[in-house]
Amino acid sequence: MGGGRRGMGRGMHRRVTVAKRSENGTAGTSQKMRGQVSAEEEIATLRGQARAMEDQLLAIKTRITELDRGRGISPVVAVVDRDKCIACGACQEICPTGAISIDEIAQIDPMKCMGCGQCVAQCAQEAIYLQKA
Ligand code: SF4
Ligand code: SF4
Repeated sequence: MGGGRRGMGRGMHRRVTVAKRSENGTAGTSQKMRGQVSAEEEIATLRGQARAMEDQLLAIKTRITELDRGRGISPVVAVVDRDKCIACGACQEICPTGAISIDEIAQIDPMKCMGCGQCVAQCAQEAIYLQKA
């Protein structure tokens, strides 16, 4: 057991030596690789946090829409101009609530649409707009 401790001690010493060499630039590549992994891990963490915040925001907006509907307030929803839509699917990709499906043209589920307008901004054909439900 004591030998194990001494072994760990030597391992730590080696790590310190590598770190010192890195400062001198002689082990820069391995330090750079460690830095990249760390950045990737941080990006993955931040993306997870962003997704969680988006989910939370969506839940809040969905609840507000439900309450508005309960009070008889018409929410704003997306509507597709069938003469302009070319069914490219760009709006479907951007929609955060999954309210859009593509058939011959884009189809909006008004119960899922929260009127955020992201699809309107995304449509190069100007084939989608917002109106009161
Ligand atoms: S982005 Fe515009 S053209 Fe493309 S499917 Fe949606 S509404 Fe149609
Ligand atoms: S307004 Fe927002 S929620 Fe409604 S269909 Fe467009 S992107 Fe989806």
